[in-house]
Amino acid sequence: MKVSEALLYCSNSLKEVSDSYALESLLIMSYVLNTSKEDVYRKEEEVLDKTQISFLSEIIQKRKQRYPLPYILKNREFMGLNFYIDEGVLIPRQETETLVEIALEQAKDNSVFLDIGSGSGVIAISILYFKESISSVAVDVLDKAIEITRMNAIKHGVINRLNIFKADFKELKFNDHFDFILSNPPYVKTGNLKNLPYEPHIALDGGENGFKFYPKLIEKSYVMLKKGGFVIFEIDPEILDAVLKEMEKFFTNIEVFKDLGGFERFVFGVKYEGRF
Ligand code: GLN
Repeated sequence: MKVSEALLYCSNSLKEVSDSYALESLLIMSYVLNTSKEDVYRKEEEVLDKTQISFLSEIIQKRKQRYPLPYILKNREFMGLNFYIDEGVLIPRQETETLVEIALEQAKDNSVFLDIGSGSGVIAISILYFKESISSVAVDVLDKAIEITRMNAIKHGVINRLNIFKADFKELKFNDHFDFILSNPPYVKTGNLKNLPYEPHIALDGGENGFKFYPKLIEKSYVMLKKGGFVIFEIDPEILDAVLKEMEKFFTNIEVFKDLGGFERFVFGVKYEGRF
């Protein structure tokens, strides 16, 4: 089988499981051939050996059962960077890049920020990668997340500016410490988790309405922020009003940002100094 034929085989096999079957086919072939995406096209006339063919069909079988591609390839691109991804951490979504872009725009030089629920570390690490004067603390409740965040921080050369540890954010004791705080907490409604069978539910389950974590997250972030510090949280657009109501208790200059699909996906606020 030639590379060009293998690409066609991938596309035809994946059409029913993925809208982005063409891109997925290219990523799979670059993985099987152990080469860059660009090189896959340059190698179209090359012939796959037996090992590559059985490797390819194994991948296609898994993917046809809707097993997520980033878990197969152990990789996901985020902000143009390649991150190691594996079972046990949430697969980063493209829309979360907007959260990073807002943070990069707002962040002052030499600031220190906290990433609550770092997962694979994509948020904290891409900010550190693009702003060299910044440092960060990342926390997660899952050992696997800590391990993967650490691997990714080393991979992208930011480990010296990132302090990673296992913690439940509710237990943190960093009063008046951070210039800004970011979080993409679990916000999928419990009833919708059945549509996401492969990712850790602890990273997704936001309770009956998807709102469960926000009241404590908002209050605790207020306490941990320096005066004038800001927060950005990712949300489900359906809970926007409830989140805004909580935000108004502690934050000022509140803004809502849309994701690339036009959905109200992020809330921003500055620490309100008049309270307490
Ligand atoms: N945006 C993700 C999804 O809809 C959920 C991410 C989260 O719960 N933080 O699958």
